[in-house]
Amino acid sequence: MSVDIEGIGMTSQRTRDRLIQRLREHGIRNPDVLAVMRETPRHLFVDEALASRAYEDTALPIGFRQTISQPWVVARMTELLLEGGTPDTVLEVGTGSGYQAAVLAPLVRQVYSVERNADLLRQAEARFRKLRLRNIATRHADGHLGWPEKGPFEGIIVTAAPESLPEELLHQLAEGGRLIVPVGGGMGQDLLRVTRNGDTFEKESLERVIFVPLVPGKA
Ligand code: SAH
Repeated sequence: MSVDIEGIGMTSQRTRDRLIQRLREHGIRNPDVLAVMRETPRHLFVDEALASRAYEDTALPIGFRQTISQPWVVARMTELLLEGGTPDTVLEVGTGSGYQAAVLAPLVRQVYSVERNADLLRQAEARFRKLRLRNIATRHADGHLGWPEKGPFEGIIVTAAPESLPEELLHQLAEGGRLIVPVGGGMGQDLLRVTRNGDTFEKESLERVIFVPLVPGKA
């Protein structure tokens, strides 16, 4: 038996299964999303001091006043992105801990993830290497601008909240592509799904969520 953190049960398969059960009870239906989240070691995406709380359904601090998203929010956004057909390429804005990208990686061909904070990005990249997630490409940049050289994207997921829809990201959506984004300032946002049909963008408002703000520029 190993003497690492697995051995003391805080991050055991049983603990993870309880989280998956909770996600199911809160309406997450996509079996692929549930299966990937069951396998993804969320405790490796937070500081060791918080590892015992990694399979609670809560956001947790990751430093720099940022948070790893709540598992239910990650599951719901991923499910909304995959509904009606799995996207080939997905752009994520706000790599943060890297957890959302790690959940997406087994589900799509290629993930592109943009982060403004260089320190967070370095830590996330180390996690991707450790977990051998080879289909995540990262970039240190202001995500308001997307990643034009790699687009258009069939899916875009924004994991920090802009005050209004970022125009540039709409331009980088492929035909039929979907943008999942929490929009609004302050203490809570509307989670929107925007689907591109030619030059029209169909908007659905799906959930109330709480994200840290999308901040302009690099750090
Ligand atoms: N997806 C992350 C959640 C990160 S929290 C996870 O699974 O852990 C939001 C992240 O967005 C933070 O890391 C923050 O630095 C980043 N962020 C905020 N504004 C940004 C911007 N304009 N461009 C890129 N990243 C941004």
